Amino acid sequence: MTTGRFASSLVRRSAAVLVLALAACRSEPVESPPPPPVRVVLGTSVEGRPIDALRHGPDVPGGVLVLASIHGSEPAGTPLLRELERAIARRPESFAREPITLVPIANPDGYARRVRTNARGIDLNRNFPAGNFETSVRNGDGPLSEPESRALERFIVTHRPRLIVSIHQPLSCIDWDGPAEAIVERAAGLGALPAKRLGGRPGSLGSWAGAQLGVPVITLELRAGDELLSSGALFERYGATLFALLSLDPPSE
Ligand SMILES: [Zn+2]
Repeated sequence: MTTGRFASSLVRRSAAVLVLALAACRSEPVESPPPPPVRVVLGTSVEGRPIDALRHGPDVPGGVLVLASIHGSEPAGTPLLRELERAIARRPESFAREPITLVPIANPDGYARRVRTNARGIDLNRNFPAGNFETSVRNGDGPLSEPESRALERFIVTHRPRLIVSIHQPLSCIDWDGPAEAIVERAAGLGALPAKRLGGRPGSLGSWAGAQLGVPVITLELRAGDELLSSGALFERYGATLFALLSLDPPSE
């Protein structure tokens, strides 16, 4: 191509780009769909199982963290979170306001065996670096002695969620640490579970992130036997409560 022909081709192309750009300016602004969830591996359990998290919404600090089955013998929260995942997939635009991170199985080794502790016999919800940590064979040699608690601690310190919800069984109430009373009262008003302060346990997630860091930490204690329900039945029972805790509109059909 000669220099002249090259130059005129360049002019034609530039003009075409300009026309397209002007057309784009004139058209109505189209809201881009929210990005799909991102699977993040927060860490690895003692036995090498991944601790998966699903991140929805914008990739910015803050937002909410919802985790289940930090006690592997209290597994009903896991199918409930799978159902929440499906609700988010049905209308992702409702969940695009802030990041929502779901950790369906915080203690994969304990969940695989349906036991409370991790594979080393440590209660992960007594292994956080709270001032009230108590060394014992059950709580660990020191705070964060376990890879699973370290993975959660790292995520919380890095991402600074504004709210943490941890799902347990079978005490049938909504417990909280840190400044969560107003949120809990609103959710308890829906009638599925009453608000009840159980008190800070040594080295618990609530004692560390809630009482110490000042992040509202809500412990959603489902009922005994809930692990026998289908995920749909669990969502029917607790979906509205979960949505109220996350300050979302009630789930739609
Ligand atoms: Zn528990």
